[in-house]
Amino acid sequence: MKKNKVIVIGAGFAGLSAAASLAKSGFDVILLEKNSCIGGRARKLVINGFTFDMGPSWYWMPDVFENYFKEFNTTVAQQYDLVRLDPSYSVFFSKEEVFRIPANLNEFYQLFEKHEPGSSVALKKFLADAEYKYNVSMSDFVHKPSLSILEFLDFRILNAALRMDLFKSISMYIKNHFTNQKLIQLLEFPVLFLGAKPNETPALYSMMNYADIVLGTWYPQGGMYKIVEAMENVAIKAGVKIRTHETVQKINIENGKAVSVVSNGITYEADVVVGAADYHHVEQNLLEEKYRNYSKEYWKSRKMAPSCLMYYIGVDKKIEGLEHHNLFFDAPFDLHAEEIYDRPQWPSNPLFYATCASKTDKSVAPEGKENLVLLIPIAVDIEDTETIREKYFNIMMDRLEHLTGQSIKQHITVKKSYAIKDFKADYNSFGGNAYGLANTLKQTAIFKPTLKNKKVNNLYYAGQLTVPGPGVPPSIISGQVVAREITKKFKVRI
Ligand SMILES: Cc1cc2nc3c(=O)[nH]c(=O)nc-3n(C[C@H](O)[C@H](O)[C@H](O)COP(=O)(O)OP(=O)(O)OC[C@H]3O[C@@H](n4cnc5c(N)ncnc54)[C@H](O)[C@@H]3O)c2cc1C
Repeated sequence: MKKNKVIVIGAGFAGLSAAASLAKSGFDVILLEKNSCIGGRARKLVINGFTFDMGPSWYWMPDVFENYFKEFNTTVAQQYDLVRLDPSYSVFFSKEEVFRIPANLNEFYQLFEKHEPGSSVALKKFLADAEYKYNVSMSDFVHKPSLSILEFLDFRILNAALRMDLFKSISMYIKNHFTNQKLIQLLEFPVLFLGAKPNETPALYSMMNYADIVLGTWYPQGGMYKIVEAMENVAIKAGVKIRTHETVQKINIENGKAVSVVSNGITYEADVVVGAADYHHVEQNLLEEKYRNYSKEYWKSRKMAPSCLMYYIGVDKKIEGLEHHNLFFDAPFDLHAEEIYDRPQWPSNPLFYATCASKTDKSVAPEGKENLVLLIPIAVDIEDTETIREKYFNIMMDRLEHLTGQSIKQHITVKKSYAIKDFKADYNSFGGNAYGLANTLKQTAIFKPTLKNKKVNNLYYAGQLTVPGPGVPPSIISGQVVAREITKKFKVRI
Protein backbone atom coordinates (compact mmCIF):
# COMPACT_ATOMS: atom_id res chain seq x y z
CA MET A 1 0.00 0.00 0.00
CA LYS A 2 1.21 3.51 -0.82
CA LYS A 3 2.31 5.36 2.30
CA ASN A 4 0.66 8.57 3.51
CA LYS A 5 2.76 11.55 2.48
CA VAL A 6 3.69 14.18 5.04
CA ILE A 7 5.30 17.51 4.22
CA VAL A 8 7.07 19.13 7.17
CA ILE A 9 7.88 22.83 6.74
CA GLY A 10 11.04 23.98 8.57
CA ALA A 11 14.04 21.95 9.74
CA GLY A 12 14.68 23.30 13.23
CA PHE A 13 14.59 20.93 16.20
CA ALA A 14 10.79 20.66 16.04
CA GLY A 15 10.66 19.92 12.31
CA LEU A 16 13.49 17.38 12.51
CA SER A 17 11.86 15.67 15.47
CA ALA A 18 8.38 15.58 13.89
CA ALA A 19 9.76 14.36 10.55
CA ALA A 20 11.89 11.57 12.02
CA SER A 21 9.13 10.38 14.36
CA LEU A 22 6.60 10.32 11.52
CA ALA A 23 8.96 8.47 9.18
CA LYS A 24 9.56 5.92 11.93
CA SER A 25 5.79 5.46 12.20
CA GLY A 26 5.59 4.60 8.53
CA PHE A 27 4.85 7.90 6.79
CA ASP A 28 6.58 9.06 3.63
CA VAL A 29 8.13 12.32 4.86
CA ILE A 30 9.67 15.26 3.03
CA LEU A 31 11.21 18.02 5.18
CA LEU A 32 11.47 21.40 3.42
CA GLU A 33 13.87 24.01 4.80
CA LYS A 34 14.26 27.54 3.45
CA ASN A 35 17.89 28.04 4.51
CA SER A 36 20.99 26.47 2.98
CA CYS A 37 21.40 24.26 6.04
CA ILE A 38 19.14 22.68 8.64
CA GLY A 39 19.03 23.44 12.39
CA GLY A 40 16.99 26.65 12.36
CA ARG A 41 17.92 28.91 15.26
CA ALA A 42 20.68 26.46 16.17
CA ARG A 43 22.76 26.84 12.98
CA LYS A 44 26.52 27.18 13.15
CA LEU A 45 28.73 29.89 11.73
CA VAL A 46 32.29 29.16 10.61
CA ILE A 47 34.67 32.09 10.09
CA ASN A 48 38.49 31.95 9.85
CA GLY A 49 38.86 28.79 11.93
CA PHE A 50 36.25 29.79 14.55
CA THR A 51 33.02 27.76 14.81
CA PHE A 52 30.20 29.58 16.58
CA ASP A 53 26.88 28.18 17.77
CA MET A 54 24.51 30.81 16.39
CA GLY A 55 21.68 30.18 18.85
CA PRO A 56 21.33 27.83 21.82
CA SER A 57 24.40 27.17 23.91
CA TRP A 58 22.95 25.81 27.18
CA TYR A 59 22.40 22.05 27.03
CA TRP A 60 19.89 21.37 29.78
CA MET A 61 17.51 18.47 30.52
CA PRO A 62 19.79 15.72 29.18
CA ASP A 63 17.05 13.15 29.81
CA VAL A 64 14.99 14.62 26.93
CA PHE A 65 17.80 14.08 24.43
CA GLU A 66 18.47 10.59 25.78
CA ASN A 67 14.79 9.66 25.45
CA TYR A 68 14.64 11.11 21.95
CA PHE A 69 17.56 9.08 20.61
CA LYS A 70 16.31 5.96 22.42
CA GLU A 71 13.21 6.11 20.20
CA PHE A 72 15.55 5.50 17.26
CA ASN A 73 17.51 2.71 18.95
CA THR A 74 20.56 4.82 19.56
CA THR A 75 22.00 6.81 22.45
CA VAL A 76 23.44 10.26 23.01
CA ALA A 77 26.84 8.64 23.64
CA GLN A 78 26.70 6.97 20.23
CA GLN A 79 25.85 10.29 18.58
CA TYR A 80 28.14 12.83 20.28
CA ASP A 81 30.55 13.32 23.14
CA LEU A 82 28.57 15.00 25.92
CA VAL A 83 30.46 16.49 28.87
CA ARG A 84 29.12 18.01 32.07
CA LEU A 85 30.45 21.51 32.69
CA ASP A 86 32.02 22.25 36.08
CA PRO A 87 31.63 25.00 37.09
CA SER A 88 28.24 25.00 35.40
CA TYR A 89 28.64 28.77 34.88
CA SER A 90 29.97 31.95 36.46
CA VAL A 91 27.93 34.89 37.66
CA PHE A 92 29.62 38.29 37.80
CA PHE A 93 27.85 40.54 40.32
CA SER A 94 30.84 42.91 40.37
CA LYS A 95 34.58 42.74 39.76
CA GLU A 96 35.09 41.51 43.30
CA GLU A 97 32.07 39.24 43.56
CA VAL A 98 32.01 36.38 41.09
CA PHE A 99 30.08 33.19 41.89
CA ARG A 100 31.39 30.04 40.20
CA ILE A 101 28.45 27.66 40.28
CA PRO A 102 29.68 24.19 41.16
CA ALA A 103 28.27 21.08 39.49
CA ASN A 104 28.57 19.21 42.78
CA LEU A 105 25.38 19.53 44.83
CA ASN A 106 27.10 19.58 48.22
CA GLU A 107 29.34 22.40 47.08
CA PHE A 108 26.25 24.20 45.85
CA TYR A 109 24.68 23.91 49.32
CA GLN A 110 27.93 25.32 50.79
CA LEU A 111 27.72 28.29 48.42
CA PHE A 112 24.25 29.04 49.79
CA GLU A 113 25.40 28.63 53.40
CA LYS A 114 28.28 31.04 52.79
CA HIS A 115 25.95 33.80 51.60
CA GLU A 116 22.93 33.05 53.76
CA PRO A 117 23.67 30.92 56.84
CA GLY A 118 21.04 28.22 57.32
CA SER A 119 19.75 28.51 53.75
CA SER A 120 20.85 25.04 52.69
CA VAL A 121 17.90 23.60 54.65
CA ALA A 122 15.46 25.75 52.67
CA LEU A 123 17.33 24.89 49.49
CA LYS A 124 16.90 21.14 50.07
CA LYS A 125 13.15 21.58 50.46
CA PHE A 126 13.05 23.96 47.47
CA LEU A 127 14.89 21.45 45.27
CA ALA A 128 12.77 18.51 46.45
CA ASP A 129 9.63 20.41 45.37
CA ALA A 130 11.34 21.41 42.12
CA GLU A 131 12.19 17.77 41.44
CA TYR A 132 8.58 16.77 42.00
CA LYS A 133 7.41 19.46 39.55
CA TYR A 134 10.01 18.41 36.99
CA ASN A 135 9.08 14.73 37.18
CA VAL A 136 5.32 15.34 37.03
CA SER A 137 5.71 17.84 34.19
CA MET A 138 7.91 15.54 32.16
CA SER A 139 5.77 12.45 32.71
CA ASP A 140 2.24 13.91 32.73
CA PHE A 141 2.19 17.37 31.17
CA VAL A 142 4.70 18.16 28.43
CA HIS A 143 3.72 15.25 26.22
CA LYS A 144 0.07 16.23 26.18
CA PRO A 145 -1.20 17.77 22.93
CA SER A 146 -3.19 20.27 25.07
CA LEU A 147 -6.10 20.21 22.63
CA SER A 148 -8.66 20.19 25.43
CA ILE A 149 -8.91 20.83 29.16
CA LEU A 150 -10.30 17.28 29.42
CA GLU A 151 -6.79 15.90 29.00
CA PHE A 152 -5.99 17.33 32.43
CA LEU A 153 -9.17 16.16 34.21
CA ASP A 154 -7.70 13.10 35.75
CA PHE A 155 -7.55 12.71 39.53
CA ARG A 156 -3.83 12.02 39.67
CA ILE A 157 -3.02 14.98 37.40
CA LEU A 158 -5.37 17.35 39.21
CA ASN A 159 -3.91 16.28 42.51
CA ALA A 160 -0.41 16.87 41.17
CA ALA A 161 -1.46 20.23 39.69
CA LEU A 162 -2.41 21.43 43.16
CA ARG A 163 1.18 20.86 44.26
CA MET A 164 2.64 22.57 41.18
CA ASP A 165 2.29 26.17 42.43
CA LEU A 166 0.59 27.30 39.23
CA PHE A 167 -0.92 30.40 40.77
CA LYS A 168 2.08 31.76 42.69
CA SER A 169 4.78 33.76 40.97
CA ILE A 170 8.24 32.26 41.00
CA SER A 171 9.54 35.57 42.30
CA MET A 172 7.39 35.40 45.47
CA TYR A 173 8.04 31.71 45.81
CA ILE A 174 11.84 32.16 45.82
CA LYS A 175 11.60 35.11 48.22
CA ASN A 176 9.56 32.95 50.60
CA HIS A 177 12.54 30.63 50.85
CA PHE A 178 15.55 32.98 50.71
CA THR A 179 16.49 36.54 51.64
CA ASN A 180 19.96 37.08 50.16
CA GLN A 181 19.52 39.19 47.05
CA LYS A 182 22.26 37.47 45.07
CA LEU A 183 20.93 34.00 45.83
CA ILE A 184 17.47 35.16 44.81
CA GLN A 185 18.87 36.45 41.53
CA LEU A 186 20.73 33.19 41.01
CA LEU A 187 17.51 31.21 41.37
CA GLU A 188 15.56 33.63 39.19
CA PHE A 189 18.10 33.37 36.36
CA PRO A 190 16.69 30.22 34.65
CA VAL A 191 13.46 32.17 34.21
CA LEU A 192 15.33 34.21 31.60
CA PHE A 193 14.99 31.15 29.36
CA LEU A 194 11.23 31.27 29.78
CA GLY A 195 10.85 34.77 28.44
CA ALA A 196 8.79 36.54 31.11
CA LYS A 197 9.46 38.52 34.25
CA PRO A 198 9.87 36.38 37.38
CA ASN A 199 6.82 38.02 38.95
CA GLU A 200 4.73 36.89 35.95
CA THR A 201 6.13 33.38 35.69
CA PRO A 202 4.33 30.64 37.64
CA ALA A 203 6.31 29.02 40.46
CA LEU A 204 5.73 25.77 38.57
CA TYR A 205 8.91 26.73 36.72
CA SER A 206 11.09 26.25 39.77
CA MET A 207 11.46 22.90 38.01
CA MET A 208 14.01 24.78 35.89
CA ASN A 209 16.08 25.23 39.06
CA TYR A 210 16.09 21.46 39.40
CA ALA A 211 17.20 21.19 35.77
CA ASP A 212 19.94 23.75 36.39
CA ILE A 213 21.26 22.74 39.80
CA VAL A 214 20.69 18.99 39.90
CA LEU A 215 20.56 17.78 36.29
CA GLY A 216 23.34 20.16 35.29
CA THR A 217 24.71 22.08 32.33
CA TRP A 218 26.22 19.94 29.58
CA TYR A 219 28.05 20.50 26.33
CA PRO A 220 28.37 18.33 23.21
CA GLN A 221 32.01 18.49 22.09
CA GLY A 222 32.12 20.16 18.68
CA GLY A 223 29.23 22.46 19.62
CA MET A 224 25.45 22.45 19.83
CA TYR A 225 25.25 21.77 16.09
CA LYS A 226 26.29 18.20 16.93
CA ILE A 227 22.73 17.70 18.19
CA VAL A 228 21.38 18.87 14.84
CA GLU A 229 23.73 16.54 12.96
CA ALA A 230 22.71 13.62 15.17
CA MET A 231 19.03 14.38 14.60
CA GLU A 232 19.70 14.63 10.87
CA ASN A 233 21.36 11.18 10.98
CA VAL A 234 18.42 9.51 12.68
CA ALA A 235 15.92 11.33 10.43
CA ILE A 236 17.67 10.18 7.26
CA LYS A 237 17.97 6.64 8.63
CA ALA A 238 14.24 6.66 9.38
CA GLY A 239 13.63 7.61 5.75
CA VAL A 240 13.08 11.39 5.84
CA LYS A 241 13.98 13.23 2.64
CA ILE A 242 15.51 16.56 3.70
CA ARG A 243 15.56 19.39 1.15
CA THR A 244 17.26 22.72 1.86
CA HIS A 245 16.87 25.98 -0.15
CA GLU A 246 13.11 25.29 -0.16
CA THR A 247 11.10 28.34 0.91
CA VAL A 248 7.48 27.26 1.19
CA GLN A 249 5.21 30.00 -0.17
CA LYS A 250 1.76 28.47 0.18
CA ILE A 251 -0.25 25.64 1.67
CA ASN A 252 -3.05 24.70 -0.74
CA ILE A 253 -6.39 23.75 0.81
CA GLU A 254 -9.22 21.89 -0.94
CA ASN A 255 -12.46 20.81 0.73
CA GLY A 256 -11.08 21.45 4.21
CA LYS A 257 -7.91 19.47 3.58
CA ALA A 258 -4.32 20.54 2.95
CA VAL A 259 -3.53 18.91 -0.39
CA SER A 260 -0.13 20.35 -1.25
CA VAL A 261 2.48 22.98 -0.50
CA VAL A 262 4.24 25.21 -3.01
CA SER A 263 7.96 25.83 -2.73
CA ASN A 264 10.15 27.51 -5.36
CA GLY A 265 7.34 27.05 -7.87
CA ILE A 266 7.17 23.28 -7.29
CA THR A 267 4.01 21.72 -5.88
CA TYR A 268 4.54 18.97 -3.31
CA GLU A 269 1.45 16.85 -2.78
CA ALA A 270 0.60 15.95 0.80
CA ASP A 271 -1.80 13.85 2.87
CA VAL A 272 -0.73 15.70 6.01
CA VAL A 273 1.14 18.99 6.48
CA VAL A 274 3.14 20.03 9.55
CA GLY A 275 4.08 23.71 9.82
CA ALA A 276 7.26 23.63 11.91
CA ALA A 277 8.40 27.11 10.91
CA ASP A 278 7.33 29.99 13.20
CA TYR A 279 3.60 29.41 13.83
CA HIS A 280 2.77 33.05 13.08
CA HIS A 281 4.53 32.85 9.67
CA VAL A 282 2.82 29.58 8.73
CA GLU A 283 -0.61 31.01 9.52
CA GLN A 284 -0.25 34.60 8.34
CA ASN A 285 1.87 34.05 5.23
CA LEU A 286 1.24 30.54 3.96
CA LEU A 287 -2.49 30.14 4.62
CA GLU A 288 -5.49 32.01 3.25
CA GLU A 289 -7.13 34.09 5.98
CA LYS A 290 -10.24 31.91 6.22
CA TYR A 291 -8.15 28.89 7.24
CA ARG A 292 -6.14 30.57 10.00
CA ASN A 293 -6.61 29.65 13.66
CA TYR A 294 -5.67 33.14 14.85
CA SER A 295 -6.11 36.73 13.71
CA LYS A 296 -3.53 39.51 13.48
CA GLU A 297 -5.09 40.98 16.66
CA TYR A 298 -4.52 37.70 18.50
CA TRP A 299 -0.81 37.79 17.65
CA LYS A 300 -0.56 41.46 18.60
CA SER A 301 -1.99 40.61 22.01
CA ARG A 302 0.55 37.83 22.73
CA LYS A 303 3.35 38.38 25.19
CA MET A 304 6.51 37.49 23.35
CA ALA A 305 9.71 36.19 24.87
CA PRO A 306 12.66 38.43 24.01
CA SER A 307 14.72 38.79 20.91
CA CYS A 308 18.43 39.33 21.41
CA LEU A 309 21.53 41.08 20.14
CA MET A 310 24.46 38.73 19.66
CA TYR A 311 28.07 39.17 18.71
CA TYR A 312 30.17 36.26 17.42
CA ILE A 313 33.76 37.15 18.23
CA GLY A 314 37.14 35.57 17.58
CA VAL A 315 39.91 36.72 19.93
CA ASP A 316 43.59 36.16 19.13
CA LYS A 317 44.60 35.33 22.72
CA LYS A 318 43.25 33.40 25.70
CA ILE A 319 40.92 35.33 28.02
CA GLU A 320 41.53 34.99 31.75
CA GLY A 321 38.73 34.70 34.29
CA LEU A 322 35.95 33.40 32.04
CA GLU A 323 34.26 30.02 32.22
CA HIS A 324 32.36 28.35 29.38
CA HIS A 325 29.15 30.22 30.41
CA ASN A 326 29.28 33.63 32.10
CA LEU A 327 26.38 35.77 33.29
CA PHE A 328 26.96 39.47 33.82
CA PHE A 329 24.55 40.49 36.54
CA ASP A 330 26.39 43.69 37.45
CA ALA A 331 23.31 45.71 36.44
CA PRO A 332 19.75 45.88 37.84
CA PHE A 333 17.69 42.91 36.63
CA ASP A 334 14.29 44.61 37.16
CA LEU A 335 15.02 47.63 34.99
CA HIS A 336 16.29 45.47 32.13
CA ALA A 337 13.23 43.20 32.39
CA GLU A 338 10.92 46.24 32.34
CA GLU A 339 12.64 47.50 29.19
CA ILE A 340 12.03 44.17 27.52
CA TYR A 341 8.44 43.55 28.54
CA ASP A 342 6.71 46.68 29.86
CA ARG A 343 8.27 49.61 28.02
CA PRO A 344 9.93 47.95 24.99
CA GLN A 345 13.17 49.81 24.21
CA TRP A 346 16.90 49.20 24.11
CA PRO A 347 18.05 48.58 27.70
CA SER A 348 19.63 51.53 29.54
CA ASN A 349 21.99 49.28 31.50
CA PRO A 350 21.82 45.72 30.15
CA LEU A 351 22.55 42.40 31.73
CA PHE A 352 24.31 40.17 29.24
CA TYR A 353 25.97 36.83 28.95
CA ALA A 354 29.06 35.47 27.30
CA THR A 355 29.69 31.96 26.08
CA CYS A 356 33.32 31.06 25.69
CA ALA A 357 33.01 27.54 24.27
CA SER A 358 36.75 27.34 23.54
CA LYS A 359 37.24 26.94 27.32
CA THR A 360 35.84 23.40 26.90
CA ASP A 361 36.31 22.65 23.23
CA LYS A 362 39.59 23.00 21.32
CA SER A 363 37.83 22.46 17.98
CA VAL A 364 35.88 25.75 18.02
CA ALA A 365 38.87 28.14 17.89
CA PRO A 366 42.41 28.00 16.53
CA GLU A 367 45.03 27.13 19.14
CA GLY A 368 45.74 29.88 21.66
CA LYS A 369 42.62 31.81 20.62
CA GLU A 370 39.17 32.21 22.11
CA ASN A 371 35.65 31.82 20.73
CA LEU A 372 33.28 34.30 22.36
CA VAL A 373 29.55 34.83 21.88
CA LEU A 374 28.00 37.83 23.64
CA LEU A 375 24.23 38.11 24.06
CA ILE A 376 21.87 40.80 25.38
CA PRO A 377 18.16 39.89 25.62
CA ILE A 378 16.10 42.73 24.08
CA ALA A 379 12.45 43.50 23.37
CA VAL A 380 11.00 42.18 20.11
CA ASP A 381 10.40 44.46 17.15
CA ILE A 382 12.39 47.50 18.34
CA GLU A 383 14.58 49.53 15.98
CA ASP A 384 17.62 47.55 14.87
CA THR A 385 20.49 49.40 13.18
CA GLU A 386 24.25 48.89 12.88
CA THR A 387 24.85 52.02 14.95
CA ILE A 388 22.71 50.75 17.82
CA ARG A 389 24.31 47.31 17.70
CA GLU A 390 27.78 48.87 17.80
CA LYS A 391 26.83 51.01 20.79
CA TYR A 392 25.88 47.88 22.74
CA PHE A 393 28.95 46.03 21.53
CA ASN A 394 31.07 48.75 23.14
CA ILE A 395 29.03 48.65 26.36
CA MET A 396 29.54 44.88 26.65
CA MET A 397 33.23 45.07 25.74
CA ASP A 398 33.98 47.82 28.27
CA ARG A 399 32.26 45.86 31.04
CA LEU A 400 33.91 42.59 30.03
CA GLU A 401 37.35 44.19 30.04
CA HIS A 402 36.69 45.91 33.37
CA LEU A 403 35.21 42.85 35.12
CA THR A 404 37.91 40.46 33.92
CA GLY A 405 40.70 43.04 34.18
CA GLN A 406 42.28 42.70 30.72
CA SER A 407 42.19 44.14 27.23
CA ILE A 408 40.12 42.13 24.78
CA LYS A 409 38.84 44.55 22.17
CA GLN A 410 42.20 45.14 20.51
CA HIS A 411 42.63 41.35 20.15
CA ILE A 412 39.45 40.82 18.16
CA THR A 413 40.05 39.32 14.71
CA VAL A 414 36.50 38.12 13.90
CA LYS A 415 33.33 40.05 14.67
CA LYS A 416 29.78 39.55 13.41
CA SER A 417 26.53 40.81 14.90
CA TYR A 418 23.08 39.21 14.80
CA ALA A 419 19.75 40.69 15.97
CA ILE A 420 16.08 41.34 15.22
CA LYS A 421 16.41 41.97 11.47
CA ASP A 422 18.39 38.75 11.04
CA PHE A 423 15.85 36.67 12.97
CA LYS A 424 13.15 37.97 10.67
CA ALA A 425 15.13 37.45 7.46
CA ASP A 426 16.57 34.05 8.36
CA TYR A 427 13.67 32.36 10.18
CA ASN A 428 10.56 34.41 9.34
CA SER A 429 10.45 35.07 13.04
CA PHE A 430 7.45 36.99 14.42
CA GLY A 431 8.73 40.36 15.64
CA GLY A 432 12.27 39.00 15.37
CA ASN A 433 11.70 36.87 18.47
CA ALA A 434 14.50 34.57 19.54
CA TYR A 435 12.70 32.43 22.13
CA GLY A 436 9.05 32.29 21.04
CA LEU A 437 6.18 33.08 23.39
CA ALA A 438 6.63 34.02 27.03
CA ASN A 439 5.74 31.20 29.43
CA THR A 440 3.14 33.06 31.45
CA LEU A 441 0.22 31.13 32.92
CA LYS A 442 -2.11 32.61 30.30
CA GLN A 443 0.16 31.22 27.58
CA THR A 444 0.72 27.74 28.97
CA ALA A 445 -0.66 24.36 27.75
CA ILE A 446 -4.22 24.77 26.38
CA PHE A 447 -3.68 28.55 26.30
CA LYS A 448 -0.83 28.30 23.78
CA PRO A 449 -1.45 28.41 20.02
CA THR A 450 -2.88 24.96 19.41
CA LEU A 451 -0.91 22.33 17.54
CA LYS A 452 -3.82 21.49 15.25
CA ASN A 453 -5.56 23.65 12.69
CA LYS A 454 -9.23 23.91 13.68
CA LYS A 455 -10.52 24.32 10.12
CA VAL A 456 -8.19 22.15 8.11
CA ASN A 457 -8.42 18.51 9.05
CA ASN A 458 -4.85 17.48 8.25
CA LEU A 459 -2.79 20.58 9.09
CA TYR A 460 -0.67 20.65 12.25
CA TYR A 461 1.93 22.92 13.84
CA ALA A 462 5.13 22.19 15.75
CA GLY A 463 7.84 24.34 17.26
CA GLN A 464 8.57 26.76 20.02
CA LEU A 465 5.38 28.83 19.54
CA THR A 466 3.08 25.90 20.28
CA VAL A 467 3.10 23.30 23.10
CA PRO A 468 5.06 22.69 25.21
CA GLY A 469 7.08 25.89 24.53
CA PRO A 470 10.46 27.47 23.84
CA GLY A 471 13.87 25.86 24.30
CA VAL A 472 15.62 23.00 22.56
CA PRO A 473 14.14 20.16 24.69
CA PRO A 474 10.54 21.49 24.43
CA SER A 475 10.93 21.99 20.66
CA ILE A 476 12.06 18.38 20.28
CA ILE A 477 9.11 17.25 22.40
CA SER A 478 6.76 19.39 20.32
CA GLY A 479 7.76 17.43 17.22
CA GLN A 480 7.18 14.14 19.03
CA VAL A 481 3.77 15.21 20.32
CA VAL A 482 2.55 16.30 16.89
CA ALA A 483 3.88 13.10 15.30
CA ARG A 484 1.96 11.04 17.87
CA GLU A 485 -1.28 12.93 17.13
CA ILE A 486 -0.88 12.47 13.38
CA THR A 487 -0.01 8.80 13.76
CA LYS A 488 -3.13 8.22 15.87
CA LYS A 489 -5.34 9.88 13.28
CA PHE A 490 -3.78 8.93 9.96
CA LYS A 491 -2.39 5.49 10.66
CA VAL A 492 -4.36 4.09 7.75
CA ARG A 493 -4.32 5.73 4.38
CA ILE A 494 -6.88 8.53 3.99
C1 LIG B 1 20.06 33.16 20.49
C2 LIG B 1 19.29 32.03 21.04
C3 LIG B 1 19.75 31.38 22.16
C4 LIG B 1 19.04 30.31 22.67
N1 LIG B 1 19.56 29.64 23.73
C5 LIG B 1 19.00 28.49 24.11
C6 LIG B 1 19.70 27.64 25.00
O1 LIG B 1 20.81 27.96 25.43
N2 LIG B 1 19.12 26.45 25.34
C7 LIG B 1 17.91 26.07 24.83
O2 LIG B 1 17.43 24.98 25.17
N3 LIG B 1 17.24 26.86 23.96
C8 LIG B 1 17.77 28.04 23.57
N4 LIG B 1 17.16 28.80 22.63
C9 LIG B 1 15.83 28.42 22.13
C10 LIG B 1 15.91 27.32 21.07
O3 LIG B 1 17.00 27.54 20.23
C11 LIG B 1 14.63 27.32 20.26
O4 LIG B 1 13.52 27.18 21.14
C12 LIG B 1 14.56 26.19 19.23
O5 LIG B 1 15.75 26.12 18.50
C13 LIG B 1 13.36 26.44 18.31
O6 LIG B 1 13.27 25.40 17.38
P1 LIG B 1 12.07 25.37 16.34
O7 LIG B 1 12.25 24.13 15.54
O8 LIG B 1 10.79 25.60 17.01
O9 LIG B 1 12.28 26.69 15.42
P2 LIG B 1 13.43 27.12 14.42
O10 LIG B 1 14.75 26.73 14.92
O11 LIG B 1 13.24 28.55 14.10
O12 LIG B 1 13.13 26.27 13.10
C14 LIG B 1 12.17 26.66 12.15
C15 LIG B 1 12.75 26.47 10.78
O13 LIG B 1 11.76 26.83 9.80
C16 LIG B 1 12.43 27.43 8.71
N5 LIG B 1 11.46 28.20 7.91
C17 LIG B 1 10.90 29.39 8.20
N6 LIG B 1 10.04 29.76 7.21
C18 LIG B 1 10.08 28.78 6.29
C19 LIG B 1 9.43 28.58 5.04
N7 LIG B 1 8.53 29.46 4.55
N8 LIG B 1 9.72 27.47 4.32
C20 LIG B 1 10.61 26.55 4.79
N9 LIG B 1 11.26 26.70 5.97
C21 LIG B 1 10.98 27.79 6.72
C22 LIG B 1 13.49 28.29 9.37
O14 LIG B 1 14.51 28.64 8.46
C23 LIG B 1 13.97 27.35 10.49
O15 LIG B 1 15.03 26.55 10.05
C24 LIG B 1 17.84 29.89 22.07
C25 LIG B 1 17.36 30.55 20.94
C26 LIG B 1 18.09 31.61 20.42
C27 LIG B 1 17.59 32.27 19.18
